[in-house]
Amino acid sequence: GDNLVEIRDLSVTFETGRGPVRALRNVNLDVPRGRILGIVGESGSGKSTVIWAMLRLLAENGAVTGGRIDFNGRDLLQLDADALRAFRGAQAGVVFQDPMTSQIPVKSYLQQFLDIAYRQKASRAEKIAHAIAMMRRVGIPDPEQRIAQFPHQFSGGMRQRTGIAMALLMHPDLVIADEPTTALDVTMEAQVIHLLRELQREFQTTMMIVSHNLGLVAELCDEIVVMYAGEVVERGDIQSVFANPSHPYTRALIDCDPARVLERTRILPTIPGELPNLRHPPRACVFVDRCPHAFARCREEKPRLNKADEGHVAACHLLDGVRPVMHAAAPAPA
Ligand code: SF4
Ligand code: MG
Repeated sequence: GDNLVEIRDLSVTFETGRGPVRALRNVNLDVPRGRILGIVGESGSGKSTVIWAMLRLLAENGAVTGGRIDFNGRDLLQLDADALRAFRGAQAGVVFQDPMTSQIPVKSYLQQFLDIAYRQKASRAEKIAHAIAMMRRVGIPDPEQRIAQFPHQFSGGMRQRTGIAMALLMHPDLVIADEPTTALDVTMEAQVIHLLRELQREFQTTMMIVSHNLGLVAELCDEIVVMYAGEVVERGDIQSVFANPSHPYTRALIDCDPARVLERTRILPTIPGELPNLRHPPRACVFVDRCPHAFARCREEKPRLNKADEGHVAACHLLDGVRPVMHAAAPAPA
């Protein structure tokens, strides 16, 4: 099909001492082949949980309680341990938020590259040559020497570039990145975004980027998914969503300060109110307590993902053709 990844009705729950937290509820999203999808949301939105569920690396108290995650037509949630290892190593490369904690401090980069390539049918010399070529491709100077070094001997920007080289080493179909530039300053961040964009074109890789930085997503991604409190509230083509944000939450984020959003200096602006308690998620619209347009139906019925434009949907009753009656008494349920 046209989609490399199809997530259907994915639900994840974390058990806590104070009861189960329903962190994802019926999440649906597609990642078209050869495109870059950005998943945005504030902390607690579940954006990282989507990718950790995909990689089957949820924290121990977390479990998928429903749904499926199809990758090339196979449900990742059904893979056995061997198939899962192959998926993580060769089919999906992961770029982590903080390479200092994800890279192995006591192993040289050479050893880490060889570990990633362990299944590859190639000689050690070929594997090393390939790793050096990848380091050069991501902009590491003197890679023949630097590959023998350890993570602490690299600057933050070089560590993340090397992390990207590791993720791409096996030419995976999919690259998954969780807040890939959070540990970097603005200049480095711009370079890393540019690099990811170039590599995507060069390798025709499909990418999923999780970020709380709308400017980064606007610049890097082709498609966007906006998450709020464990649900997808809007998704679509990046131009369409930025030109015509159709969920009140997305609108609040983008309208807040569009110039600064595009300057990439801006993390998600703060909007009034708090995330709902995910021990008792709202039965109807997840945004109702913070929405300036809420009307009676919003507390009674969960909005579907309604069409806002071609290939662009938002989970809001306002798109349903039914205009709210502002300031009127709530209609009695029929
Ligand atoms: Fe606001 Fe209602 Fe739309 Fe929810 S469904 S976002 S409360 S208008
Ligand atoms: Mg996160």
